[in-house]
Amino acid sequence: MIVSRQVEWDMGHRVMNHHSKCRNVHGHRYKLEAFLSGELVTKEADSSEGMVIDFGDVKSVLLEHVHDVLDHGFLVWEKDLMMMNFFKKNPDMKHIVVPFTSTAENLAAWIFKNLESQFNNLYGKNLRLEEIYLWETPTSKVVCKRGDIK
Ligand SMILES: [Zn+2]
Repeated sequence: MIVSRQVEWDMGHRVMNHHSKCRNVHGHRYKLEAFLSGELVTKEADSSEGMVIDFGDVKSVLLEHVHDVLDHGFLVWEKDLMMMNFFKKNPDMKHIVVPFTSTAENLAAWIFKNLESQFNNLYGKNLRLEEIYLWETPTSKVVCKRGDIK
């Protein structure tokens, strides 16, 4: 069975080398949905009996490792010298430096890698992150599946 949970956050970014408006400093209301496969807990009287995992436990991981890291921050590519200089002068402005241009595709791969290890570490081998959906706008999303990233 597969369970999923969503989380949303607000974040700024820009796609430095894009030919059009994405070069500008702007932000989005991002939404992530994480899909986890696992086996039903069948142990009688267990707190999770009849579940793959408590939705609240999934929410906790998504909040700690995605929402709280990125919310109201600015995702900046380390090669974007204009923004890197700005944050050097304003280090109290929340920003997250990443080694990739901040497209939704790259962000989805980065989130997938981070979450995969978190779920593996927390809940053992029976729980696996299968795929994530990452919406950059209400009508545009990326699907990143296990095996899509190395
Ligand atoms: Zn954008």
